[in-house]
This record gives sequence, C-alpha cells and structure tokens, in this order.
Amino acid sequence: MKYFSTNDKSIKVSFREAVLNGIPLDKGLYFPEKIPTLNKDFFEKLPNLSNDQIAFECILKFTEKDIDKVSLRKIISETINFKFPCKKLSNDISVLELFHGPTMAFKDVGARFTSRVLSYFNSYSDKKVTVLVATSGDTGAAVASGFHGVEGIDVFILFPKDRISKVQEKQITIHSGNIYPVKVDGSFDDCQKMVKEALTDNDLMSKFNFTTANSINISRWIPQILYYFFAYKELIDSDKNIAVSIPSGNFGNLFSCLVSIGMGLPIKKVIASNNLNNSFTNYITSSCYEPRESIKTISSAMDVGDPSNFIRVAEFFLNDHDSVKKVIDAYSFNDEDTKIAIADLYEKYNYICDPHGAVGYLGVKKHKLLNKDFSYIFLETAHFSKFMDETRDCIKTSISYPDEIEKLLLKDGEYHQINTYSQFKNYINSID
Ligand SMILES: *Cc1c(COP(=O)(O)O)cnc(C)c1O
Repeated sequence: MKYFSTNDKSIKVSFREAVLNGIPLDKGLYFPEKIPTLNKDFFEKLPNLSNDQIAFECILKFTEKDIDKVSLRKIISETINFKFPCKKLSNDISVLELFHGPTMAFKDVGARFTSRVLSYFNSYSDKKVTVLVATSGDTGAAVASGFHGVEGIDVFILFPKDRISKVQEKQITIHSGNIYPVKVDGSFDDCQKMVKEALTDNDLMSKFNFTTANSINISRWIPQILYYFFAYKELIDSDKNIAVSIPSGNFGNLFSCLVSIGMGLPIKKVIASNNLNNSFTNYITSSCYEPRESIKTISSAMDVGDPSNFIRVAEFFLNDHDSVKKVIDAYSFNDEDTKIAIADLYEKYNYICDPHGAVGYLGVKKHKLLNKDFSYIFLETAHFSKFMDETRDCIKTSISYPDEIEKLLLKDGEYHQINTYSQFKNYINSID
C-alpha cells in the first residue's frame, strides 16, 4: 500500500515514510492509493471477533509489511486497551462512548497508536524525532499522555489561549521531560498554520527530524476506522439502514468513517454534525468550500474554521460534490440548541452528555425529522467532566468530577507563551 500526496498523485510513499514525514513537502496530505477492502469472510465472522482481532485485520491492510505482525498486535493491544460501549437510548438511537481512554476523549486512540508506531520506527535510528501538534484541546491532552516518557521523541503542543477547558489545559501542561506545551495567543487555526509552516520550513528541517501527531498524519485516522466497526457490530441485527452522526471539527474522525465504508461497512448515511463553525455544512448546501475564521462555541474542540481533512473528504469522492451529498448530510447548530440538547438527553434518557456529543445528538434528531427507517448511532467524543461548566449549566442536578480529574486540577501546569511564528521557531531552536 502506497500513499500519494493530494497535491501531486505521482508522489508516492510507504506507510512508514508517510508517518515519519507527517505531511508531503508540497503541503498536500497523504492519501491511500487505494482504499483496502475486507472480504465476505471477515464480515461473516465479525460478530464473533474481539476488538483486538477486528483491529488487527483492519490496520494490517494499511501497514502491510512496514510493521511486523507480532509488533502490530502489541501496538494494537496497547492502543485500544479500554472499552467502547454502545448504549441504547431508545429503539432507534444509540450512543457510542469513545471517552474511556486515559484522557477521556476519542483522541486517545489515534494518539496512542501514533506514539507507538513512531517509537517502533524510531527504534532503529539514533536520531531524535520531534513531533509538532496543534490542538483544540483534546488532541494535545491525548498526545501528551500518549508520548510522555517515550524515548527519543520530543513533542511540542500548540494550544490556543483561553479557548480550551480547564481540564484540557491541565492534561496538556502537567507533564515535564519530553513534552513542551506552547500557549498561542490566537485560535486553533493559527496553531495549525504554525505547525504546517514549521513542518515545511527548510531551516528547521535541516536541524530537526519533524513529524506531526495531528490528523494530518495518517497514523491518527487509521485506527479511528475501528470505531465504526465496533459500532456496526452492535447494530448488525438491525433491519434498518444505519446512520452515524459524527460531531466534527477537523473532520479526521468523519474521514475515518468514510474509509470504513470504503472497506465494506454497510453504513448508509454519515451525518456531519457541526457547531457554528460551518464551512463544511455550507459546502454541502452550496458546493463551495470557503474556509472561515473560527468562532468560539461551547463545543470548543470543534471550533475549526478550515478543517484540514476537508481535502481528504473531497478526495475520497474524487472531488465530486454530488457523490459527497449522497453519503453525507451536514447540519450546523448553535450553542442554544446544544444546551437544550444536553438538557433533553438528561430528561428523556437520564444520560449526561458533553456539548460535543450533544451536537452529534442534534444531528440525529434533525435527520430523523426528515427521514424514516434508520437506526442511528451518535458518537459521544468526550466525557462530560472535560467540559464540566458547560454541561453542569444545562442539567438541573449537581454533578461532580471523577476522582482522577479532581486530583489533576490540583496540579500546577507549565507552558511557554508565544504570539508569532518566529517566536515559535526561536523556541524550537532553543531546545535540543
Ligand atoms: C477533536 C474533537 C472533535 C472533532 O473531531 P475531528 O476529528 O477533528 O472532526 C469532536 N469532539 C471532541 C470532544 C473532540 O475532542
């Protein structure tokens, strides 16, 4: 399996090179030459396979010979060593909980896989790898946890000032050693631009061995494909069509869902659920993609005005807008809608949902009004306590932090603060 650059399909690299480079020099994104498919046999035995077995068969299609099978099994078992429960809320609505990992958001899976794969490739080299990552909150937390103490790897985490939650900031800044948190006076999009600039900056590249742990990197979205296999396993007996609602920001998770469909999963509808950062929703309705400045909302991990995986989503459909619309419906919701949804989920189903999951639920409700005969799954992408203030305001009951978060909040974090790319460059240069 080779991966080409979305800017120039004649540039092709292996899995290993794509992971280690992070981004092609022409600033496109790596994309699988061909989406691999799983055979009928696999789907027949799927109900009886464990999560680890499903993961091995799926991921092997992308890594092929670049990771030996014994090591791949070990990497997988460390990546998904927690539960992915799917809870039925009503006859036709279920919620897939993706927050049972160490930093309580779905980003743990991609970050843990990436850290282990990089460390596997790096074990043959004596040159240090420097990972650059921009975060709207949860990626940074998951990456800090996944990479902390990993030998031979330094990690710079850029997060936007005043735009991530208390818990997220602690999760990013309490590690010392090889983790370098950087607070940026700007938005997530500003952080993402700085990372892309550094990754292709000739001065820096001559000195550092860079890669990224953002969903720019293929190793972030490849393991996320598994969510949809796990979800499908739960609904396998349903006689209705399956629709999945994905609260989306940078569209890495939604792209993973498309790949799972390409591999053979019978998911009929993908619902892109957005907050007011609606560049993608506008693209679906107008066929024009226009990046916007990001707007601050209570589902802050989705405050992305120019989702980097838009290019991959478009490439998946060979840039044909009509084909995109056949599979994906997109809706955008404001904070008021989101708060009402949190209250509604609690009152109707006794389910405490965070603002991101609530946007996913709103996508289900809206689709259901317009369509009949679907079985729905929405993704709960973070535990509500990561967004405690926003969640607590909506439900008329007192909720408290889990013990491990209480303890975390008592710790002191440390970070470096910057405003501009040149300050970022100086900071990287000051560390070796
Ligand atoms: C990152 C994140 C999202 C958005 O996921 P993308 O893959 O960037 O679209 C949604 N919810 C939460 C809680 C997140 O951390």
